[in-house]
Amino acid sequence: MAPSSPMPTMDSHGPPDAWSGAMERDSALDVSKRDVSTRRILILGGTTEARLLAERLAGRDDITVTVSLAGRTRNPLDMPAMVRVGGFGGPTGLADYVRTEAIDALVDATHPFAAIMSFNAAEAAKIADVPLLALARPAWECRPGDNWREVENVADAVAALGTAPRRVLVALGRNEVAALEAAPQHSYLVRSVDPVEPGLRLDDVRYIVARGPFPEDDERELLERHAIDAVLAKNGGGEATYGKIAAARALGIEVVLVRRPARPDVRKIGSIEEALAWIGNL
Ligand code: NAP
Repeated sequence: MAPSSPMPTMDSHGPPDAWSGAMERDSALDVSKRDVSTRRILILGGTTEARLLAERLAGRDDITVTVSLAGRTRNPLDMPAMVRVGGFGGPTGLADYVRTEAIDALVDATHPFAAIMSFNAAEAAKIADVPLLALARPAWECRPGDNWREVENVADAVAALGTAPRRVLVALGRNEVAALEAAPQHSYLVRSVDPVEPGLRLDDVRYIVARGPFPEDDERELLERHAIDAVLAKNGGGEATYGKIAAARALGIEVVLVRRPARPDVRKIGSIEEALAWIGNL
């Protein structure tokens, strides 16, 4: 995928406007005058982990945090940090941003399936010569009782449903659900944070607009109410969306699970605590 044009917009959810405005002017005009004892961290976000890390760093006067969002979600949750929105324009655009804003370290806390951004971050960190940490939640592992079929991508996941009509809960995120149109024989229940627009060209599709976490009991009730016999999902990992996996196991329902894409070979950790320790040692 070609990198998008840089189109950052600033949005300060955490600090007062006057403060963030002053910081933006400061960064744009004279980086050298900034207090060198304050380290500037750029968190590449779009995940619960990014928000949790920003929360843990909020209020520390030795660290300034900016969270970067791609801008895919219409109403992102409030962030206890400065937020910038939109692509950087590939790795060189990100490296330019890091230099211009005098960022001291990058934390890649993007979703495990946001592989392009992770490779961009790895390259940008090299170009701008800043340390990079990837905060990557562990993948879900198959447990006794799970009925999983693991596939490489969303198209393969749809094909793996087979030719006979099935009733499928789809939890792939709205950006990739167009692939369902290749298998119109199934009945789909599509869940996403924002509405799927335009709607899919399918005869039998219903939509749920909802944001996790999704507890196991609720997921079990949902699967039973809609007589679901297959769950289509990505191996996102984490607790917030594991409920559907656990509920499917309890009900003996097949889960067609998309494996994670390859990620760059950078320093990876799996918890907020480890990220805080890394930041503390910068
Ligand atoms: P992607 O395919 O890896 O990245 C595509 C482009 O989007 C990147 O080249 C970059 O544009 C821009 N981008 C991605 N993340 C960004 C960020 N945090 N800040 C600024 N620009 C960003 O990403 P994706 O899979 O579309 O995911 C987009 C966002 O949604 C990510 O922040 C991710 O954490 C979140 N998310 C993704 C999934 C998923 O299943 N993929 C699920 C939940 C949340 P430039 O090259 O122009 O910089």
